[in-house]
Amino acid sequence: MTSSEDDETYWSTTADEETTGIAKSGSRPEVDGATMLATLHSGIPVILAMRPYQNAAAIPALIRQLAAHNKGKVTLGAIAPLNHIKPDDPTEFLPGCTGATLKIADPVTYLFHGDNSTKKKPTKVRWPYQTSSTDEIKTDSWAESVGQAQRDVGANLILSPGNWKPAEEAEVEINLEVEQFEAISKQSNDKETCALNLTLGSTWLTQERTRDTLLESIVATQPAAVYMRVLWPKLAHNYASLSDVSILKGYKEICETLSQEDIPLLLPDTDLTGWYLLAFGATGFGTGVTSGARAFKPDQAGGAGAPRKPRYFQPGMLHTVLKTEQTLIESTISGTVCSCPYCAFSRSTNIWTPAAEGGHHLNRISDLTSDISNRKTRRASAKSTIIKAAEFTANVMRQIPLESNSQPSHLSQWEQLF
Ligand SMILES: [Zn+2]
Repeated sequence: MTSSEDDETYWSTTADEETTGIAKSGSRPEVDGATMLATLHSGIPVILAMRPYQNAAAIPALIRQLAAHNKGKVTLGAIAPLNHIKPDDPTEFLPGCTGATLKIADPVTYLFHGDNSTKKKPTKVRWPYQTSSTDEIKTDSWAESVGQAQRDVGANLILSPGNWKPAEEAEVEINLEVEQFEAISKQSNDKETCALNLTLGSTWLTQERTRDTLLESIVATQPAAVYMRVLWPKLAHNYASLSDVSILKGYKEICETLSQEDIPLLLPDTDLTGWYLLAFGATGFGTGVTSGARAFKPDQAGGAGAPRKPRYFQPGMLHTVLKTEQTLIESTISGTVCSCPYCAFSRSTNIWTPAAEGGHHLNRISDLTSDISNRKTRRASAKSTIIKAAEFTANVMRQIPLESNSQPSHLSQWEQLF
């Protein structure tokens, strides 16, 4: 177990704009509601980059670089969680993300309300809506205050509150969210679009009855988009992708159904698992420069505080390995040296910073997404990429000893679902 390796701390040590090698530049006109709808229905996959808690100044430049790099094949968005942004400093992040077409201020209400079933660590209260009582959070006026907070920081895709839904009373829980979504939608203007925000226990996906309730409700509501988080079980380590077949099957059915119904589906906090779900009809997924933005799972308790080892997203394996293992892979197997600007900058300076690790990760996730951008061939392309990753991993492991966390354990399960 490497749960003691603290990814947020690692990222916060040295990652800033000076260590990325990526220059500031560019501006972009505002995206109105009609443009947003056209974007969500264009068939071009969306990558949502999450603002990290610290050193967020590096992110707008990264988003601009990614937007330019895979222009026409990948659309970029930015997510600012509202436990990061203060009401008295609202222009800090989203307005600066000029490469992002989608700008989302995630209300992250599950951090403040409910019974802490998500097992997330306590976080700082920054907005009045985050201190409301359990009765207040059931009202339309509270939902409107959640919507207003998002507008105040420059969001153009406004989310319903997305309170934690354990599926204990499935219909009551989903009906309340729909009601609050409609309250927020009524308040919106033509510059913004509203999405149904869902924060769900995994039972919603794994049990047929609740899954049907969910799908029937979404289809009846016809939101402009669905923004859906599902609480995953604890993963083997911070760099694992989701391999639980029962949850993956639930995701697959939801992706396929909403795609058939022409309702765009965004999956924040899913990283490579979200990339995989594009094959079944998801519109986009969220990721980020730290592992906290790549999975929605219970926070895992720290152990003895082992120092975080530098890591490297190995795109050929669809998995993250140690940087030292990647150095061996590069010297053993041809064609494995990365040409992204973060790796190029790292080679020129001979250091592997958290900024390089995060920037490289997003560049290669973006390239993998660009590779399957064509909607007609997407499913077959993703399947082929996964089969090749299993073959490449076997080839690597014949020649190079990899620590257990560096060995992908999701590829065979992923292939099964095609
Ligand atoms: Zn790279």
